[in-house]
Amino acid sequence: MAGKHNSRYSVTLAVVLLVFSSVPTVATAEWLGATRAQMGTEVRVYLWHENKEHASLAAEAVFTEIARIEALMSTYKEDSEISAVNRDAAMSGVPVGDELYELVVRSLDISVLTRGAFDITYDSVGQHYDFRAGEHPDEDTLRASLPKIDYRLVKPRASDRSIRFLAAGVRINLGGIAKGYAVERGVAILRQLGISNAIVTAGGDSRLLGDRRGQPWVVGIQNPRADDEVTLRIPLVDEAVSTSGDYERYFMEDGKRYHHIISPVTGEPANGVQSATIVGPDAVMTDALSTSVFVMGVDSGLRLIATLPDYEGIVIDADGRMFYSDGLRPPAAE
Ligand code: ADP
Ligand code: MG
Repeated sequence: MAGKHNSRYSVTLAVVLLVFSSVPTVATAEWLGATRAQMGTEVRVYLWHENKEHASLAAEAVFTEIARIEALMSTYKEDSEISAVNRDAAMSGVPVGDELYELVVRSLDISVLTRGAFDITYDSVGQHYDFRAGEHPDEDTLRASLPKIDYRLVKPRASDRSIRFLAAGVRINLGGIAKGYAVERGVAILRQLGISNAIVTAGGDSRLLGDRRGQPWVVGIQNPRADDEVTLRIPLVDEAVSTSGDYERYFMEDGKRYHHIISPVTGEPANGVQSATIVGPDAVMTDALSTSVFVMGVDSGLRLIATLPDYEGIVIDADGRMFYSDGLRPPAAE
């Protein structure tokens, strides 16, 4: 018996040794790409590591982290923390975990910064749109729910980390910021796992880790009116980049484009812009700012970006013209 065990053991050992001795030749210089349907979009991880197995474990760890965040923050999940807030916060403060609490507080700060263009209570009206089914709120619903878009109706309380709404009918949704948070967390996980060259993307939000091993990453900005046509390519290293567009989730009715970025003033899709792209150090900010600048429009959007030294922006207006923030404007155009 003992002999059998021993021989089996040595066979296993040989296999392990074989795998290890083949590492330097076979599994070197590997880029690994993996995708997963998460957060209502496609999450993509692209990373470099010498060891293929470690690379796929690392990608898997990102998906696990993003699933965890989605379980907290998705309004489509009845048992998420945010769904509990939307159900009960008009009656009494709902205690939440640190992450949701902090992200709500950051969202409210960004509402102040953007003078209300970014407003997580957009969903008080936004919940009545269904872009897949081609549905928008009727006039009565819009009139009744529009006053409930107001970030000042959301009261976080630090002492018990609770969220309270000051009126019934208020609803919050982190769709304009949670994907940025998710890719930021994804990259943090990769860093912990010893990865130093990677991209984590969730829909329109990407966080780049390091460079492409000696070269910058090249990020393409899509032509909002032509799928798969890249309008502009920008080289980037170790930055976050987010694009908000009117072409991702929309339907047409009577010649009008109903898309998913809502003006808090009208409760209707914001017009004047086809896409807004923001580049900067923090994906939470680039995500929220791309949505904000889309709502604010070219002029006040780029004026806001000019006040934020670490952030740059590219806005494509309703006629397809491109506008750049000062830090990005090509010298030839000056
Ligand atoms: P995506 O990456 O999904 O295209 P964006 O960053 O462009 O997302 O943000 C659009 C999402 O933000 C919408 O689907 C919605 O969940 C949310 N949203 C829409 N309007 C606003 C707004 N005015 N303020 C904050 N969030 C908004
Ligand atoms: Mg955004």
